[in-house]
Amino acid sequence: GDALAVSARVAPLGSRLVLLLVEDLTEARRIEAVRRDFVANVSHELKTPVGALSLLSEAVMDAADDPEAVNRFAGRMQIEATRLTNLVQELIDLSRVQNDDPLEDAEPVRVDELVAEAVDRCRHQAGTKQITMASGGAAGLTVWGNRSQLAAALGNLVENAVNYSPARTRVGIAARRVAAPGGDLIEIAVTDQGIGISEKDRERIFERFYRVDPARSRATGGTGLGLSIVKHVVASHGGEVTVWSAEGQGSTFTLRLPEAGAGRDRRRDGDRLA
Ligand code: ADP
Repeated sequence: GDALAVSARVAPLGSRLVLLLVEDLTEARRIEAVRRDFVANVSHELKTPVGALSLLSEAVMDAADDPEAVNRFAGRMQIEATRLTNLVQELIDLSRVQNDDPLEDAEPVRVDELVAEAVDRCRHQAGTKQITMASGGAAGLTVWGNRSQLAAALGNLVENAVNYSPARTRVGIAARRVAAPGGDLIEIAVTDQGIGISEKDRERIFERFYRVDPARSRATGGTGLGLSIVKHVVASHGGEVTVWSAEGQGSTFTLRLPEAGAGRDRRRDGDRLA
């Protein structure tokens, strides 16, 4: 197969059709391999909590006369069940952002509301670690897109900032408008003073299931899917996500999204003004 691909690539002019055909097949094979990897990853990720639940339920039955042990095992079962629920929910979210066209029900979305929602989602976790959350610049800004998908994207970034930071640090969320040739963009930057990400890992963290430290990610309820969801959401909105980081010092994830009103939502704008 690959030998054929190579020979077709070096084939002289006149075999352009064959070349295209072979490239198509190569692409199809690549997609198939990615799909197989994904299924293997999902299966593996499901197996861990399911296996633990099965062992723990046996332990509960064996410990029937020891209420204290039953309680302990039941507590651990709850943790594994939560892990399983998180994973399934993230898989549903990922499949949704991959399959739905988010712009079908796009609307102007207020950035201050997105920020407040993301901060709310992490309030508990941040509180237990005494992490200070600060935000600014969002007032008056609106992005054009699918509200729930945008909320999921920003929520994931803020959640990661809290999860991968030590206690008593600060997480900042700063929004601003930036001029761009195709219409103004809204930039939302999430900055933490956490563990940071090496250059080598920065290239891979947006891949599904890629985690720098799987044990640490699992301990905080991570699934390794969050950033792949973020990447999909911004791409389908015509935006981008970039990361800056210094190991041991912290990271900044920046979303750039189309501003609402820059000709993208003329009809709705008209409705609003009327
Ligand atoms: P997870 O569910 O593991 O958090 P993500 O896809 O959201 O999955 O992130 C992938 C990996 O990228 C994480 O496991 C972590 O190693 C790294 N990462 C993400 N955000 C940060 C951050 N703010 N600081 C340090 N590492 C991060």
